[in-house]
Order: sequence, then structure tokens, then C-alpha cells
Amino acid sequence: MTASDTKKRLWRNDLVLIFVLLFVAALGILLAFLFRQEGAYCTLTQNGKEIGRYSLSVDREITVYADAQKTAYNTVRIKDGGVSVLAASCPDKICQNSRAIRYHGETVVCLPHGLVITVYSDEDGLDIVV
Ligand SMILES: [Zn+2]
Repeated sequence: MTASDTKKRLWRNDLVLIFVLLFVAALGILLAFLFRQEGAYCTLTQNGKEIGRYSLSVDREITVYADAQKTAYNTVRIKDGGVSVLAASCPDKICQNSRAIRYHGETVVCLPHGLVITVYSDEDGLDIVV
């Protein structure tokens, strides 16, 4: 075996490895997509403290204030099993521009207001939904 043969073989092994890694990554994304769980409820947390828990099967709008003067707000909308931020007074509007979330583990975050909306599929939590 010549040195150039060995080089070629190593190159081929690299290619195989790259394809295997790509395949595994694609499979992971596919599995996560196939086994994603519909959310049952969402929680609202403000600065790490849970301030509300709502079923996703009841359409409603919730306004959350981030300050005592009630000038900083997020209006959260639950509609058709999904939750999104309908309106917000934050400067970046990232939360308002986020798409509606409906699957377990998805979040919408409003950094300026310290607000996090998280979707859960856990049925047990439904007992304490307000
Ligand atoms: Zn925001």
C-alpha cells in the first residue's frame, strides 16, 4: 500500500463520517417533529416566578403588566390551541412577532419584560389551571 492510497482511504472515511453525522442530525430533527406533543396548557412566568397557568383549549386574552404603573404590558392570546403575544409595549417587539406556539416545550420570551410563556403537554397540570 502506498502513502497516497492511505490518504485516499482516510478521505473516504471522512466522507462516510460526515454523511453519518448528517444522517443522524436529520433523523433527530425528524423524530422530534414526529413525536412532538400537542400542548395542554401554558404557563406565564415573570422574572422566573409563575404568575399564571392557562388551558390551551379555552380561547382567551390575558394582559400581563411588567410594572406597577401598568404602562409596560404584554397581551397574551390563547386561540385554537396555540398561544402568542397579541400586543406588547416592549421596545423590541420580539415576543409580539413570534409565531403562536402549541407544542410541548415551546416558548415565547419577552426579555425586556422578563416574561416567558411555555407550553406543556403534561395532563397532570390541568388540575391547577385557572
Ligand atoms: Zn416583548
